[in-house]
Amino acid sequence: MSLDALAPELERLRDADLYRRRRVQQGPQQPRARIDGRELLSFCSNDYLGLANHPKVIAALQRGAERWGVGSGAAHLVNGHSAAHEALEEELAAFTGRERALLFSTGYMANLGVISALAGRRDTLLQDKLNHASLLDAAQLSRATLRRYAHADADALAAQLERHPETRLVITDGVFSMDGDLAPLPALAERARRAGAWLMVDDAHGLGVLGPGGRGSLAHFGLDQDAAPILMGTLGKALGVSGAFVAGPAVLIETLIQRARSYIYTTATPPALAEATRFSLRLAERETWRREHLQALIIRLRDGATRLGLELMASATPIQPLVAGSAARALAWSRALEERGILVGAIRPPTVPEGSARLRITLSAAHTESDVDRLLAALAELPRADRAD
Ligand code: PMP
Repeated sequence: MSLDALAPELERLRDADLYRRRRVQQGPQQPRARIDGRELLSFCSNDYLGLANHPKVIAALQRGAERWGVGSGAAHLVNGHSAAHEALEEELAAFTGRERALLFSTGYMANLGVISALAGRRDTLLQDKLNHASLLDAAQLSRATLRRYAHADADALAAQLERHPETRLVITDGVFSMDGDLAPLPALAERARRAGAWLMVDDAHGLGVLGPGGRGSLAHFGLDQDAAPILMGTLGKALGVSGAFVAGPAVLIETLIQRARSYIYTTATPPALAEATRFSLRLAERETWRREHLQALIIRLRDGATRLGLELMASATPIQPLVAGSAARALAWSRALEERGILVGAIRPPTVPEGSARLRITLSAAHTESDVDRLLAALAELPRADRAD
């Protein structure tokens, strides 16, 4: 059969405004992107602390490549595990206040690896309804029974735990990637502890941004390893590089080294990336002004939006979505902003629930106050959200 059989489905996506296109960046992506020869002020990167283009992080990567070469050459368990990886793991463990940490090539792979290593066919997993796709995919891969509780609702979790006392793992995003809100971690941890289930927190969007020293969502609430024994963090967002890690007790990390297939059967990331991450981790921890400036920008954006009568979703993090409703309207808004030289992505189903397509505005410490004012001026001219499609 010809592959042309795939074409009607693409047509259907186009007709439903759900077709996705990649934009070709012609330089660094943030805070100013160059696309189609035009400079655009970008509000769609997860580079929350502005470290992805930091000259000292770039220099650390260059020095790393000179010392280690480019490729790691093999998987960690074969011959690809370097002293650079080892040092970064130790620093991440210290940073997160945990016994050990283990590097993965991406956050997606970390989630697949952890969940499929810790749960099997006879286990039950409970996850927040709005958890990241990689956590849901991981549940499928593990073949455990997946149940989902209402978003950020500790009572809904408690009810599910009562009905399914055999639950092994409770899994939540720390900061929800498309809404920007925080999980109620103290209440979730308490419910999981009472039920004897392990709590796993995916802190892809909290790490570097929240809590003292940027230690993340758990630290923001003053929670430690006892509350959530399994912590996943990514290195390609606030830390500005690439990759991910899992941190926790030694027994967890040893289990993952033996059992996590997405750790075992893949080439280790280049050691030079580990060197760059070690540097950006130090900057993220010490340069508190980045978090303070980011916080000031968040407040500036939210206050400005309120003055304009625009209702951003309830979020205190750099993820500040503006719900459009239909995919068509989200796309129209994104295009209207782009005409004014501003880049904000339209997020559509299935990434977000039907009817809640949105602009996902993300702020960064690399933005200035006048960048935010420019965004507000452009938002003021959008066709209003209260008008019907
Ligand atoms: N978890 C969450 C909550 C995320 O938002 C993402 C990335 N969008 C991931 C995991 C995956 O991380 P990575 O991009 O490193 O694969």
